[in-house]
Amino acid sequence: MPGMNRPVSTVPTAALQALKDMLGPGGWLESAADREPYEIDFRRLHRGNTPLVALPDSTARVAGVVELCARERIGIVPQGGNTSYCGGATPRPGGHEILLSLRRMRKIRAVSAQNDSLTAEAGCVLAELQAAASAVNRLLPMSLGSEGSATLGGIVSTNAGGTAVLRYGMTRALVLGLEVVLPDGRVLNQLSALRKDNTGYDLKQLFIGAEGTLGVVTAATLRLFPQPAAVATAFIGLGTPAAAVELLGSLHEALGDTVTTFELVPRVALEFTGRHVAGARDPFGEPHAWYVLAEATLAAADDAFVARFEAALAAAIERGLVEDAVTAASGAQRDALWRLRETIPEAQAKEGASLKHDISVEPARLPSFIEAGRALLERLAPGARLVAYGHLGDGNLHFNLSEPAGGDGGRLAGQADAIRRAVHDLVAAHGGSISAEHGIGQLKVGELERYEDPAALDLMRRIKRAIDPHGIMNPGKVLRDSE
Ligand SMILES: Cc1cc2nc3c(=O)[nH]c(=O)nc-3n(C[C@H](O)[C@H](O)[C@H](O)COP(=O)(O)OP(=O)(O)OC[C@H]3O[C@@H](n4cnc5c(N)ncnc54)[C@H](O)[C@@H]3O)c2cc1C
Repeated sequence: MPGMNRPVSTVPTAALQALKDMLGPGGWLESAADREPYEIDFRRLHRGNTPLVALPDSTARVAGVVELCARERIGIVPQGGNTSYCGGATPRPGGHEILLSLRRMRKIRAVSAQNDSLTAEAGCVLAELQAAASAVNRLLPMSLGSEGSATLGGIVSTNAGGTAVLRYGMTRALVLGLEVVLPDGRVLNQLSALRKDNTGYDLKQLFIGAEGTLGVVTAATLRLFPQPAAVATAFIGLGTPAAAVELLGSLHEALGDTVTTFELVPRVALEFTGRHVAGARDPFGEPHAWYVLAEATLAAADDAFVARFEAALAAAIERGLVEDAVTAASGAQRDALWRLRETIPEAQAKEGASLKHDISVEPARLPSFIEAGRALLERLAPGARLVAYGHLGDGNLHFNLSEPAGGDGGRLAGQADAIRRAVHDLVAAHGGSISAEHGIGQLKVGELERYEDPAALDLMRRIKRAIDPHGIMNPGKVLRDSE
């Protein structure tokens, strides 16, 4: 970025000592063995180095660390649960950046059924926040496969999605207020449960999805909702993605906005889970080319709700849209149907090497995108298996490729760049996004430069420079820092 100061190239020993003194006993890690888990991402694709892992236990301490780093021009990499998919939370090689882990900031500051809100610190794990909401008979409608490890700070900073976006929106739609330590060490306190506040620019939006490049999120206030009193879940067999898109429209017409989840599963994914996941069972006697996991929920108790859901599915079968469907008659059956969707990543990992693309297009364009993508990949990687699954209701697919059965993973890995380029070009031609959920991190900086509107990129760079003039916040992530 022209004219932007770069962080210093080594972290001075005196600055490290000052940081350790400020953080106090138990507030930092320094030995190679202690640093190692923080220096590598969970998929072991990105590895870097840091001279110090800072573990502050309060907003004041985070502010102290950031203020000192700003003065000394030391880069800071924020990290929560370290579950992100694009290396955003991993320091770069060279040891020039300290790692700021929020894991010790785990207080739930307030939960209010009256306000339908929850305020918690950045290091709280999503599952504990869901439980805290549930304890006051409210729902925190954020649900991810990583909810046992992902933290509030990471979720806000990646604007995470998940399996209930169709009904409740992405994290951005759930955030009412934020507390952020700015890159000069000041604390921006916008923590409130207000629904209406039109006093000037809505600054919190800048930090949601910023992947730690504009400041450190230390706490957030989230919206809560009534707990569902009635739940209807189905696993549905159908012939084409186009039928799935049409089915979603007809479920919306029949059931309104009670449709919470609508996940697409291809036949190959069901075969993978059947082979590798204990207890995973195809619920149908006959194979179908595609499946949908659909769930609808209602806050008010209503004995007829499941029957209405089943009637909507029966009407879709009559119209020829759906080939077959099973609905869950118990909590255990519901869990079994969800497992068929949730265990796809682990089952796919057991099928050998894979390439992953986190793409979105408008839902109505998904069927033509899938067909064009399939033809493209058959040409580029004959024999490789397309595993296109995920959040169809949001137009978001994990457009993944597994190595050919019997395996030549090395060949697929060698083609990764060419295949990613071809898939992303196709996404762009369909007016879609090359990163629907996972963000940019360090993995997709070049992709953002290639596909983003130049005017938007220019604005992003100006915002970065205005808020973080010394470029200390998560350097090189989202935007290149060498320009
Ligand atoms: C099995 C599995 C399933 C997943 N499913 C989904 C899914 O359905 N939808 C989805 O969107 N994602 C999903 N993810 C990705 C990931 O879990 C989410 O992106 C999650 O939000 C990351 O949270 P984290 O605490 O692990 O953040 P980290 O990985 O630690 O960090 C992510 C980014 O946020 C920054 N950051 C972290 N904490 C802070 C903070 N306090 N202040 C400022 N910046 C910060 C980091 O620097 C980094 O850039 C999944 C991951 C796994 C492993």
